[in-house]
Amino acid sequence: MPSIQENLEKVVALLPEGVQLVAVSKFHPVEELAEAYAAGQRLFGENRAQELVAKAPQLPADIRWHFIGHLQKNKVRSIMPYVTVIESVDSVQLLQLIEKEAARIDRNVEVLLQLHVAQEETKSGFSVDEVLEAAEAGLLTENLPHVRVCGVMAMASLTDDMEQVAREFDLVRRTYLTLKDGAFDESEDFNHLSMGMSDDWQVAVKYGATLVRIGTAIFGSRNY
Ligand SMILES: *Cc1c(COP(=O)(O)O)cnc(C)c1O
Repeated sequence: MPSIQENLEKVVALLPEGVQLVAVSKFHPVEELAEAYAAGQRLFGENRAQELVAKAPQLPADIRWHFIGHLQKNKVRSIMPYVTVIESVDSVQLLQLIEKEAARIDRNVEVLLQLHVAQEETKSGFSVDEVLEAAEAGLLTENLPHVRVCGVMAMASLTDDMEQVAREFDLVRRTYLTLKDGAFDESEDFNHLSMGMSDDWQVAVKYGATLVRIGTAIFGSRNY
């Protein structure tokens, strides 16, 4: 079996310039994250608050942690000291709570707006209409002094139909551009499109992804 370092090098070599890799380390032990760190990886993605809070203090401080899972309101406070980017903001209420908790410890936090474009109902995120309405109402840009809204995140449907996946990524890209040219046209931060996982990141990159979130292709399969 290839090592984590070899897997990482293979992915990184294929990434076009300007696309950053978030190594999705959920369910993998800190030793494996340390291996990826030693190979040069600095962006890591976790999807459960408790796991992030347990792992972060055991690893070097220059890791940038991306939170990528559904974030319960009562977990925002616990991740706030560790997280660099909360990629999974799926409601205005959550955004406001993140502002409040960031202000409480006097820090700034970057976030992405998660869009729901997949067929599965279980996935979370704003619908396209919801995010555009919230933007129109100023709810994504006003009164958020401790939050930098840096773009959009999405997951495509879990399917082998790559045309379906491509249509979804295209919708995400168009929605991102509508926001970028609209509510966020004065923002210097709104530059990121996070989409693409182990099985579909090459499609995502074609549709303009600037961040890809890859777990299995680096760390192997997860034992849930
Ligand atoms: C687990 C996860 C990934 C990585 O998935 P792989 O198929 O293992 O690459 C990416 N994004 C999110 C939101 C995830 O939960």
